[in-house]
Amino acid sequence: MKCNIEYIGKSRQGITKYYCTVHKSFAYDKFGNKLDECLCSNKEIYDNRLNIKQNEIKDVNIKYENILENVIPRIMINGKEFNGSLEYDNSLLTYKDFGGIMLAKLNNIPLEIVKCSHCGRYHSDNGRFAYTPHRTHLCLYCGHLFRAKEKDIGSELAMIYNVPEVKFEDKLLKIDNYCCVEYNMLKGTLLINNENVNRVLFKDKDINIAKFLSHILENEF
Ligand SMILES: [Zn+2]
Ligand SMILES: [Zn+2]
Ligand SMILES: [Zn+2]
Repeated sequence: MKCNIEYIGKSRQGITKYYCTVHKSFAYDKFGNKLDECLCSNKEIYDNRLNIKQNEIKDVNIKYENILENVIPRIMINGKEFNGSLEYDNSLLTYKDFGGIMLAKLNNIPLEIVKCSHCGRYHSDNGRFAYTPHRTHLCLYCGHLFRAKEKDIGSELAMIYNVPEVKFEDKLLKIDNYCCVEYNMLKGTLLINNENVNRVLFKDKDINIAKFLSHILENEF
């Protein structure tokens, strides 16, 4: 699908901003020039859409093969690999939203229904915004900033599914340069290198698993 790039106003520094509403990505350079194509690096996932109102989803697995090297997970839906996006009413959800809900659940964040006052679509927070409550949200559908009444965190997936808390065993696992993360969204399980642990020993530091993954995925929004 081709980009649809729109002017969305100026930054505080006076730079003109453009946004692609097809691929949920910005489309301007540091001087404020409009780009021919937006900055989304996985445009193909928007071509393959699964309507989750018509297709019942019983199982969602997100697997980061080695999260230390690659922060794009493989997604398994009902046991089959799925390289695309999920469609539900006006929501279009991708691997970034799965990462976002994983981070929110790891950090025990209450998720709210947040709506963009500009375009009226619902809002999901990913990356560092999935565990940092905030009042000014960036709508990923229209690219505009909007203000909520209070600091909160939104999730469209939590509006659609009853996503359980993640349960951990009190256990430490040493990580060197390989870290496979498997998250089952509807079961609420999370495995690190096939083990259920709440802490990792990484570069000689004992780190809580929520902190560890939050830091790695902070820029995935
Ligand atoms: Zn685009
Ligand atoms: Zn919007
Ligand atoms: Zn937000």
